[in-house]
Amino acid sequence: MTLTPSSRGAEQTAPSETTGRHRVVIIGSGFGGLTAARALKGADVDVTLISRTTTHLFQPLLYQVATGILSEGEIAPTTRLVLRKQKNVQVLLGEVEAIDLKAKTVTSKLMTMTTVSHFDSLIVAAGAQQSYFGNDQFATFAPGMKTIDDALELRGRILGAFEAAEVTTDHAERERRLTFVVVGAGPTGVELAGQIAELADRTLAGAFRTIKPNECRVILLEGAGAVLPPMGEKLGLKAQRRLEKMGVEVQLNALVTNVDYQGVTVKDKDGAERRIECACKVWSAGVQASPLGKMIAEQSDGTETDRAGRVIMEPDLSVKGHPNVFVVGDLMSVQGVPGMAQGAIQGAKYVTKLIKRELAGHADPANRAPFKYFDKGSMATISRFSAVAQVGKLEFGGFIAWLAWLVLHLVYLVGFKNRFTTLITWFITFLGHSRGQMAITSQMIYARLAMDMLQNQQKLALRQSPLAAVEEAEELERGAS
Ligand SMILES: Cc1cc2nc3c(=O)[nH]c(=O)nc-3n(C[C@H](O)[C@H](O)[C@H](O)COP(=O)(O)OP(=O)(O)OC[C@H]3O[C@@H](n4cnc5c(N)ncnc54)[C@H](O)[C@@H]3O)c2cc1C
Repeated sequence: MTLTPSSRGAEQTAPSETTGRHRVVIIGSGFGGLTAARALKGADVDVTLISRTTTHLFQPLLYQVATGILSEGEIAPTTRLVLRKQKNVQVLLGEVEAIDLKAKTVTSKLMTMTTVSHFDSLIVAAGAQQSYFGNDQFATFAPGMKTIDDALELRGRILGAFEAAEVTTDHAERERRLTFVVVGAGPTGVELAGQIAELADRTLAGAFRTIKPNECRVILLEGAGAVLPPMGEKLGLKAQRRLEKMGVEVQLNALVTNVDYQGVTVKDKDGAERRIECACKVWSAGVQASPLGKMIAEQSDGTETDRAGRVIMEPDLSVKGHPNVFVVGDLMSVQGVPGMAQGAIQGAKYVTKLIKRELAGHADPANRAPFKYFDKGSMATISRFSAVAQVGKLEFGGFIAWLAWLVLHLVYLVGFKNRFTTLITWFITFLGHSRGQMAITSQMIYARLAMDMLQNQQKLALRQSPLAAVEEAEELERGAS
């Protein structure tokens, strides 16, 4: 591996020893990236895993961090510690800003340091981010649920709303503070709505003097006509009934057309618009693939991206014209493969097997068997002891589904200690009333907004600086000549 620190950087990334072995660069430390790195254990390759986060995040349990059940550490072990014993891997923290398929380089940035990593094989597992369908301004008032920051911010907002409701003497404002709106009734929306209701009903019961937390409104808005649309009508109805039993107001065919500080505007099926005044809003309505997908597609003759920005892959998960550049996980678009952890894990195992077999001379790159996805099913929890699950043609709900959910999530959680502490935490939370992660700080609630403001101020200051004015004039002059 060759690392070339940029001349602009004040500091340099220490270059690793060059071994002359096949260099595999992996982008992302999620399900796809980490699985790929682990699958290359013992292989005769040098692996560089680049990610913008230091952790491997188990996204399916983010909602439990947001609602005070689990700590962020329990669902996000540090990637370099997970891979500590795997000597052929170097983990680099950095935001990948450029991929050059011709030069076979990946350029990443950490603070002022720019690093260029050379590859022989590239595995891109950069995942997806929240999509506001062109209304990014909604994010200020309705955070999504993709990162640890998102989950902690939401915890701050959810618990903060109850605190503010206790303090205010204005009746309408109290009602607004005690109204929680979750946009999108996919698994994340269902799980979050159920957990907010359970938090209010069980954990916070009796803890306030002015308000009764269980009198709060939890509203789940869905633009489609059913809850959990991909899981089918039967399970969707089951989940809806359970949520309604818990007091969650499920509103279907309800499209959110605006989000502001005071609340949300909703358009119903008949076209009429109405307002819901609410302080705490959560967005779980859609995803957009990482922009790295488009960057890759643009460099490959004939490769396209789908509507969500995912790269439409060749049958062997490579990029057209670049047999050793692979995309796996949420960033790949392959017919019949859902944007779920299993898709990323199976994709990563498949491509690493190809790389290993071809390097060993056991397989011919020109004759690759296509990637086949094995559907292990899907599930969503609604409340403690209640979930819905779909495995093949089998659909079931209730306690058995919840037990299956519990076991599966423990199996896929990385690290023995995390599994152990999570099991104990669940035992305490689900059998009792308390939750162990109820602390909130101002940083959780305001840090993102403060950073946005700071960035805007910096941009403004830069635009107003004399230097920027000179640069702008030079730019205009260059354009004119
Ligand atoms: C709230 C939530 C709940 C979910 N629940 C379930 C569930 O119950 N079951 C299920 O199967 N799936 C679930 N999913 C989906 C599942 O988590 C994803 O399908 C899976 O994480 C995809 O893996 P991935 O490796 O493609 O991407 P990710 O796990 O998202 O990882 C992407 C990685 O790329 C890194 N990255 C991104 N851009 C850059 C860049 N420019 N430079 C450097 N690094 C970068 C990120 O830091 C991250 O490490 C859920 C997702 C969410 C958000």
